[in-house]
Amino acid sequence: MRAMVFDGVGQPLRAVRRDRPQAGPGQLLLRVEACGICRTDLHLLDGEVPVAAPPRILGHQIVGTVEQTGERFGVPWLGWTCGACAQCRANRENLCRRARFTGCDVDGGFAEYAVADARYCFPLPADWPAEQAAPLLCAGMIGYRALHMCGDAPRLGLYGFGAAAHILLQVARWQWRDVYAFTRPGDVAAQALARELGAVWAGSSEERAPVGLDAAIIFAPDGALVPIALDAVDPGGTVVCAGIHMSEIPAFAYERLWHERTLRSVANLTRADGREFLALAPQVPIRTHVTTYQLEQVNEALADLRSGRLTGAGVIVP
Ligand SMILES: [Zn+2]
Ligand SMILES: [Zn+2]
Repeated sequence: MRAMVFDGVGQPLRAVRRDRPQAGPGQLLLRVEACGICRTDLHLLDGEVPVAAPPRILGHQIVGTVEQTGERFGVPWLGWTCGACAQCRANRENLCRRARFTGCDVDGGFAEYAVADARYCFPLPADWPAEQAAPLLCAGMIGYRALHMCGDAPRLGLYGFGAAAHILLQVARWQWRDVYAFTRPGDVAAQALARELGAVWAGSSEERAPVGLDAAIIFAPDGALVPIALDAVDPGGTVVCAGIHMSEIPAFAYERLWHERTLRSVANLTRADGREFLALAPQVPIRTHVTTYQLEQVNEALADLRSGRLTGAGVIVP
């Protein structure tokens, strides 16, 4: 099969031919229909999040089919957990220290075939276009977990308007929240998409929100946004950092956190988050805006994500 592998930090993914993987006990062998790219892939490439035992196939938003049965599944970032530790037993498998992540600790979906532990895969309806469904599997699911952390906040800010935010905005509108979208300065395409999807306001992250917010989610990996978002939320408000990695957060006066503002991170997802989100997706209904790339174009796709040229979500179609 054709695959794109990660060899080491700072190197582009490399096209290889490999034997088709074999499904072990409890695993599914899937023909990859589509696999979404994610900012986490950039953190893996840059060495900000370590990749286990390269060469490794990245890609953790896989829509695939079992060829013998035609059954369709989604494979998310959470690939395996121990099931025995205190976190696993407390329904926080997202925090399992022994967890293995798809396209990081085990091979992922930038390939023609992938194997996955069946217990961590989600059945997907046959009529969802694969490239539309792929971004739901990380951007959507982990974004949804972040939205949960905001409680019932009626005025929600989203910092960094990429794959996750464009999905979350649709869920938040459906929940009758007002959404304020903050993009990179000058990213008029992302601001236009945000308005089209129902944001009441869209502008640059350097601008002040026109109203006090009840909560804000930071998807951009820029630590400098943390004090900015804290200033944007009213007393009692929450700021959620939804990425796996962020640049250093600058020191800030306690005053900015004072008055019971909450600052927290969100890590990974649980299977319950995934099931709940996939049940919600057709009710909204969520429409993802995707740009598709061929398998061998994955480096180009990741470069587009890094530079901000990509609006919405990027998806690899092998
Ligand atoms: Zn991801
Ligand atoms: Zn565990």
